[in-house]
Amino acid sequence: MCSALRMDRASKAARIQKLLSDLFPAPPIPLAHADAFQLLVAVALSAQTTDARVNLVTPVLFARAGTPARMVELGPSGILEAIRTCGLAPTKAKNLHRLSQLLISRHGGQVPASFEALEALPGVGHKTAGVVMAQAFGFAAFPVDTHIHRLAARWGLSNGTSVVRTERDLKRAFPESEWSTLHLQMIFFGREHCPARGHSPPECPICSWAGRTRERRPAPPVGA
Ligand code: SF4
Repeated sequence: MCSALRMDRASKAARIQKLLSDLFPAPPIPLAHADAFQLLVAVALSAQTTDARVNLVTPVLFARAGTPARMVELGPSGILEAIRTCGLAPTKAKNLHRLSQLLISRHGGQVPASFEALEALPGVGHKTAGVVMAQAFGFAAFPVDTHIHRLAARWGLSNGTSVVRTERDLKRAFPESEWSTLHLQMIFFGREHCPARGHSPPECPICSWAGRTRERRPAPPVGA
C-alpha cells in the first residue's frame, strides 16, 4: 500500500475515534456483573441474545449461583431454568455447568487472565475471551462482534472478509491504549445509529463522510 493511502486510513481512523469519543465519552460496560466470573457467564449468555435480556436473567441466576462452586451445585437443569428465555439456553446451561467445573479443577475456582486458558473453556470463543480480558482484567483487546465487523467494513477500515482480519485491521488503525474503549464505543454507535433496515448514509455522523458510498459529505475537521 502506498504511503498516501496509509495516511488516508490513519487520518480517517483518527477522525472516527474523535467522533466516537465525542458521542460516547465514557461508554459503560453493558452487562451487569460483580466480578470476573459473573462477567464471563454474562458474556457467554449474550451470544444470540440481547444484553437487555441477559441483564434480566443474570440477577436471578447469580442470586442462586454467583460463584463456580454454586453453579456446579445448581446443575445444568437448575441453570437452564434460570436462563430459559435466552437463545440457545439448553446448550448454554450445559456449557456454564462444565465451564464452572473446569474453573474449579484447572484454575482453583478463579477465572484465568489468559486468552488461551479462557478459549479452552466450553462456549468461550475468541470474542468472549477478549471481552473478559479487557473488561475484567484491563488487557488491551479489541473483541469484534458482528456489528463491529460490519461497521469496520462500512467505514473502509477493513475489507470485511473475516472477523480475524477485521480485528487485525482495527488494531493497526487505532492506538492500543484505546482498543477496549473503542470496542464499546462502536457497539453503542451501532445500537444507536444503525437501524435494522433502511439506513441512510447521508444522515449518519460517520458513514456520511467515511463510508463506502457515493453520497459523502466533506470530512469534519479533527478538532470539530
Ligand atoms: S450509514 Fe447506517 S449502517 Fe452505516 S454506520 Fe451509519 S447508521 Fe450505521
